[in-house]
Amino acid sequence: MSGKTLEITSEQLIKLAGETYQNSGALKPEILHSLYLLHGQTLLSALDLIDNEKVTIIECPSGRWVYKVIGGSGAYYTLLPNLSFCQCPAYKYSVLKRKDSLVCKHVLAAKLSSAMKIIKREEISNDSMIDVILNV
Ligand SMILES: [Zn+2]
Repeated sequence: MSGKTLEITSEQLIKLAGETYQNSGALKPEILHSLYLLHGQTLLSALDLIDNEKVTIIECPSGRWVYKVIGGSGAYYTLLPNLSFCQCPAYKYSVLKRKDSLVCKHVLAAKLSSAMKIIKREEISNDSMIDVILNV
C-alpha cells in the first residue's frame, strides 16, 4: 500500500473508532488492532496522552480553533485543525525524514480524541488566539 492509501485507511479507522466509542463507550479490539498495525507504538503513546487528558481544543469567539497537546516532556504542541503536522522532533525524524511513521503521537491523539469526542475545551479571547496561531 502506498503512503496515501495508508493515510486514508487510518482516517477511516479513526472515524470508525470514534463512532463505535460513542455508541458503546469502548474502543473495539479489532479497530484498535488495525490502528496498531498502522501506527505501532505511536498508537499506544497517543492513547496514553488521551487517558491522561493531554489533548485540548482551544477555541475563541470568532470560531477559530486549534488543538493543544501536551507531550511527555511537558512541552506542548499547537496543531492546526485538518492539518496532519506537528512541530515535535518525532514528526520531523520519523514522519518527514525516515517516513517510518504516518503521524506522531500528538497528531494521532488529537484526531482520535476528537473522533471519540472525549476532548477538553478551553475558550480564549480572539486576541489571545491570534497570538497562539502566530506562534505555531
Ligand atoms: Zn508531535
